[in-house]
Amino acid sequence: MFSVNENFLLLNESYLFSTISKKVAQFTATHPDANIIRLGIGDVTQPLTPSVISAIHKAVDEMAVKETFRGYGPEQGYDFLLEAIAENDFKAFGIDISPSEIFVSDGAKSDVGNIVDILGRNNKVAVTDPVYPVYVDTNLMNLADRDQLIMLPCTAENDFLPQLPSEKVDVIYLCYPNNPTGTVMKKEELKRWVDYALENQSLILFDAAYEAYITEKDIPHSIYEIEGAQMCAIEFRSYSKNAGFTGVRCSYTVVPEALKVKSSNGIEIKLNRLWFRRQSTKFNGTAYIVQRAAEAIYSSEGKKEIRGLVDYYMENAKTIREALTQKGWTVFGGTNSPYIWLKCPNTDDSWQFFDQLLTECHIVGTPGQGFGACGEGFFRLTAFNTHEKTREAMERILAWNIG
Ligand SMILES: *Cc1c(COP(=O)(O)O)cnc(C)c1O
Repeated sequence: MFSVNENFLLLNESYLFSTISKKVAQFTATHPDANIIRLGIGDVTQPLTPSVISAIHKAVDEMAVKETFRGYGPEQGYDFLLEAIAENDFKAFGIDISPSEIFVSDGAKSDVGNIVDILGRNNKVAVTDPVYPVYVDTNLMNLADRDQLIMLPCTAENDFLPQLPSEKVDVIYLCYPNNPTGTVMKKEELKRWVDYALENQSLILFDAAYEAYITEKDIPHSIYEIEGAQMCAIEFRSYSKNAGFTGVRCSYTVVPEALKVKSSNGIEIKLNRLWFRRQSTKFNGTAYIVQRAAEAIYSSEGKKEIRGLVDYYMENAKTIREALTQKGWTVFGGTNSPYIWLKCPNTDDSWQFFDQLLTECHIVGTPGQGFGACGEGFFRLTAFNTHEKTREAMERILAWNIG
């Protein structure tokens, strides 16, 4: 009889979003006239921008003609996109990342998950709590023992920023601006993590999917703004949240040439080579049409349009933050992030607050408990709905007499 990877049996059933849908469906069945506003979504709602659409049309036409048709492309990505990334996302910020250190892919979720392929199964791995669940589940699938997974509590007491681990850890996942808490790390805070990693020969996996939402100074857009980070960190970027590519699928991962580790028999290994080997074996590249769409984001028109998208959502974030603050609630996030993380005002039970907000205000959010034990008592609202609906939701909350 064949066997399966029984690590999959260690995974918690992901009840969060299915439980939410069920509760909303039940409520609408009994209240068909309720005008439900969804502030739970982690997906964008605005369409792709004109530069992106015209690049896609043009690339489609090229594919229709023998002379310009493209088949398999380079696994790492086309040079036109790798060069645009190196130039605009790094050189423009004074960071020296070369095209050979960039790997274009079909999503940061895939890369964040697949990266465990090149890591040992006996590492001690640290993640924050609350957390983006992909980091936890992909490690449970890979690690020899689930006890190797260490949670770093993020609470109101530490402003939802993790403390350095008290024990030595080998791999650390950091996501800033953070999903779900919307918090950010300042340069000197991130520097402490880079210093820790260099001192302990640990690897940082830095998820910068929300980098475009940073509005304040002194918040690093890339971990490579910190000296030494190229020797200890891999960075994940995505076009999903800045350019609305959640359905188009394009992202990239940076694995610097300077990132090296010694094998068990003392040979120096470049992680860049391992990731190249992994990708060229298991992945055949991102669609040409999609890479042309991503390239268009870096044109001067494209940049303006993308800024417009982010600004649109950030206006919602401001609307939410201001209304909840006026209401006297405690809020985190929302200034450098499309997520607002609030303390449930009247209960420590985030599911109870979910039910109350749904039945009394007809608003859907996400209970913090769904992102980890330390999320209990907190609640996530997102800025991805329209201006009109976001404003209406806040009017309802301001008028709400919580029992
Ligand atoms: C949305 C998101 C991503 C991006 O995922 P894609 O697969 O590129 O769409 C990555 N990390 C976090 C924490 C996210 O919330």
